[in-house]
Amino acid sequence: MFVHSCAPNCWWGVSVFPQFQMEIRTTVDVQKGDILSIPYTYLFNAFGTHKRQELLQEDGEFVCKCNRCLDPTELNSFCSALMCSSCKTGKVLPLDPLDINSNWKCIDCEKLVKSEQIGVQLDDLMSKLEQCETVSDMEKYIVENQGVTIHRNHWLITEAEDVICKDRARSSWNREEKLTLEDREKHIQYCSHFLSVKDIVAPGISLERCKFQFA
Ligand SMILES: [Zn+2]
Ligand SMILES: [Zn+2]
Repeated sequence: MFVHSCAPNCWWGVSVFPQFQMEIRTTVDVQKGDILSIPYTYLFNAFGTHKRQELLQEDGEFVCKCNRCLDPTELNSFCSALMCSSCKTGKVLPLDPLDINSNWKCIDCEKLVKSEQIGVQLDDLMSKLEQCETVSDMEKYIVENQGVTIHRNHWLITEAEDVICKDRARSSWNREEKLTLEDREKHIQYCSHFLSVKDIVAPGISLERCKFQFA
C-alpha cells in the first residue's frame, strides 16, 4: 500500500472502462530506498494544513503526519500563514499543525492567537473568496489580502490565481476577450506565482501543476 502525503512524489489515475487500471507515476526523481507517496484523494491538497487535517480526519479518519503536515511552515511555502495584526509583518503559524484546535503564534512578536479566532478569520476569508463572481472581484481580493491579512503564498491566494488564470486562458482561446499587454503581464505573474508555490507542495509533473498549465 502506498503511503499518503500532502506533498507527494507520485500521482495516480485510473484508466477508463473496461480496464479500470490504476496507474501510479513518480512526479520527481526518486532515489533507491525513497518512500513513494501519493495523495489518497486529489481534493484536499490545494488547501492549507488546518483545512486538510479537518477534512482528512473527518473523511479519511486519520491524522496525516507527512512532512508537510508536521511542519508549521508547510516546507517553507507558508501557504497557511496569516499576517500578524499586531506587528503587521510577522507570520502567524499554528503551534501544533496536527491539532485543528491549536492556538497560533506570530513568529516575530510572539503574539498568541486563539484557535477560535483563527477559525473565524479563515471562514470569513473563505466566504469572501466564494462571493467573488468575476475575475476583477478575485483580483481585488488578492490585492486586499495578499501580504495584508494572509501570507502572499496562502492557499486562498493560489486558489484565486488558479481560477483567474484558467478563466483568462479559456476566454482568450475562445477569442471572447482581447487581452491588453498589461493583462498578459498580470496573467504571467499569477501563473508564475501559482507554480512557484506548487513547486514546493505539489512538485514535478503533478496533477495540480499540469492541470493548471493545460486547462
Ligand atoms: Zn499531510
Ligand atoms: Zn507579530
